[in-house]
Amino acid sequence: MLFDRRRKRMVEEQLAARGISDRRVLSAMATTPRHSFVDEALRERAYDDHPLPIGQGQTISHPYTVALMTEALELQGTERVLEIGTGSGYQTAILARLCANVFSIERIATLATRARRVLDQLSLYNVALRVGDGTIGWNAEAPFDAIIVTAGTPQLPRPLLSQLRSGGRLVVPIGEEDAQALLRLRVDASGVTEEYIGDCRFVKLLGRYGFAR
Ligand code: SAH
Repeated sequence: MLFDRRRKRMVEEQLAARGISDRRVLSAMATTPRHSFVDEALRERAYDDHPLPIGQGQTISHPYTVALMTEALELQGTERVLEIGTGSGYQTAILARLCANVFSIERIATLATRARRVLDQLSLYNVALRVGDGTIGWNAEAPFDAIIVTAGTPQLPRPLLSQLRSGGRLVVPIGEEDAQALLRLRVDASGVTEEYIGDCRFVKLLGRYGFAR
């Protein structure tokens, strides 16, 4: 199959060759059909080395960025993970293969509906989707072992840190509208530690604790 070959090349050339080494992450990305998460007209480009539009002014993230962020969450398989910004549902699908339960929030209902359909087609039933402002988190399902924010924000949405359990990891792009630093925060008994992971450019996190507009 053409897509299978392209996906294998994506994993080898864009991910493994650039330093992604978590076998589980590489395997999830080698088995998840990224082309199913983009419009028919863009399928030919689904395994290329860049983000793609998914409608409503939003994008499906760059494969390398998805791999880098997922690896940074250090998932073993038992975790409950909160994702802010479902978008196409591609990152959601990768998470669903690597942890126990994914709770994902998207502010645009049409994107959430489409993501649900593709996730169901792939039999990824361990995903709960919700439409709303993810900057306030999902208190009823907290605490989470890991939290991933897949939209750029001027500051860390305050409620998210309080929904992360001790020992948990939170990965978030923080910065300006056109460029952000990817950060990993770890919470433990001694407090919060912050690590810089790389540079990135995400669409805006819009909401109460993100960009105002
Ligand atoms: N991981 C997704 C990224 C989509 S782009 C993918 O690869 O497809 C970021 C998404 O975040 C967009 O769909 C946007 O609508 C959504 N978003 C922005 N602000 C949000 C908020 N406050 N709560 C939930 N989703 C939000």
